[in-house]
Amino acid sequence: MKKTMTTTGGYPIADNQNSLTAGERGPVLLQDYQLIQKLAHQNRERIPERVVHAKGSGAFGVLEITEDISKYTKAKVLQKGEKTKLLLRFSTVAGERGAADAERDVRGFALKFYTKEGNWDLVGNNTPVFFVRDAYKFPDFIHTQKRDPQTNLRSNTAMWDFWSLSPESLHQVTILMSDRGLPKSFRNINGYGSHTYSLINSKNERFWVKFHFKTLQGIETITNKEAEAIVGNDRESNQRDLFENIEKGNFPKWSFEIQIMSDEQAKKCSFNPFDLTKVWPHGDYPMIKVGTMTLNENPKNYFAQVEQASFSPSNIVPGISYSPDKMLQARIFSYPDAQRYRVGTHYEDLPVNRPIVEVNTYNLDGSMNYKVKEPTKAFYEPNSFDGPIEDASYLEPDLDLQGAASRYDHRVGNDDFSQVRALFNLMSQNQKEQLFSNIKDAMDTVPRNIVDRQIALFEQVHPEYANGVKKALGI
Ligand code: NDP
Repeated sequence: MKKTMTTTGGYPIADNQNSLTAGERGPVLLQDYQLIQKLAHQNRERIPERVVHAKGSGAFGVLEITEDISKYTKAKVLQKGEKTKLLLRFSTVAGERGAADAERDVRGFALKFYTKEGNWDLVGNNTPVFFVRDAYKFPDFIHTQKRDPQTNLRSNTAMWDFWSLSPESLHQVTILMSDRGLPKSFRNINGYGSHTYSLINSKNERFWVKFHFKTLQGIETITNKEAEAIVGNDRESNQRDLFENIEKGNFPKWSFEIQIMSDEQAKKCSFNPFDLTKVWPHGDYPMIKVGTMTLNENPKNYFAQVEQASFSPSNIVPGISYSPDKMLQARIFSYPDAQRYRVGTHYEDLPVNRPIVEVNTYNLDGSMNYKVKEPTKAFYEPNSFDGPIEDASYLEPDLDLQGAASRYDHRVGNDDFSQVRALFNLMSQNQKEQLFSNIKDAMDTVPRNIVDRQIALFEQVHPEYANGVKKALGI
């Protein structure tokens, strides 16, 4: 008999699948201590490299807004004609800091915009979706990507065991196993904000938004075989490609585009638009051109400017805000928590992380606080000594939430197959063959019962998907 799972305090856990949310679509409640504990604990599992996205490459650049989207947002960074300095850090997800670049994996696409209204961070990936939709499952998922506690080896069995028990992962698994799962270089990937965020205009009206960065170098990928040869020769192939191209003045560019959904549309949408395992179909929510992003400057010091770079989706600016996406809600907590642990309490004072605007805060002491401020009696708030005060003009529009607090089963009533089918149907025969062959490679040594459970999921996407994988596996 399996033992009952407990908190580290010994309390039995009744539900380890669904976080406690106000309404089915979120947001997540702060009283969900088990969720917070899981996330906080995960952030403390490695010292000092990042638990995920440990291997990264970064460069500075500029975001230029070429179109007028002021009807959606008042954010200065998104007004036509605005040019904003940025840092973009690319990464693989699973490998440690010494891992090879040319590995099949999702690529991180983390942006920090140094805007006139403070830092805006868009911490996305080269895929528009993710493996899980509830952060309660995030630490479990990441465990499957890391090493077996005894063998210290990566485990194909762990990955497919989890995925085959988590149908919501199918969309991201299919992208990962497709040609796009092994990019030729960081210059040849798209970036997606992935989560749904909101834009707020000067009338204080809210619109839901998805952010896209489409590579102008074109999508280019390599096969598993090509990757083997590259890794045998150069473990830093993507870092080298990025650095050398920028050094040569061959600056990579992306088209910056958005999709917009009104609140009315969101309420009527056939799927949950705040679900990170779903895209917004382009046909229903067309792409809107906003501007161009260019990388044009290599870091001078990798450690100071890339390793210590601390990104968090909690960094927003007036006119850009969050959504009820359960994963986003958790990352708003989890990312700054990771940075406080990894870099230190005052990580935002480091040059690469510091906003270009004046920071007026009553958060004071703590390790590595090197600022020597002018003496002031205003070290608490409210005070009678002219300390900084709040400004109600920055209040966001209210967000209408409904529903009882409960652990809503996120797998009930969620169609995990249609969008994967749409993707599968988009693939050429050659892409499908690559998909089947990549899955075969990734299923090496996985027990038959787990393989069969996963094939049953492929079958629900498309019989051709299941049959292709079976044929590749010789089943
Ligand atoms: P569209 O035909 O309008 O869009 C298809 C998108 O799929 C394009 O953006 C294309 O990117 C991308 N794509 C093509 N091949 C692959 C691949 N092997 N792996 C990942 N992405 C790929 O259709 P819909 O908007 O209705 O979406 C259909 C399906 O396409 C979705 O279910 C989703 O799986 C996938 N998709 C959708 C995106 C979206 O935001 N709507 C974004 C990315 C993928 P490109 O134009 O750069 O070639």
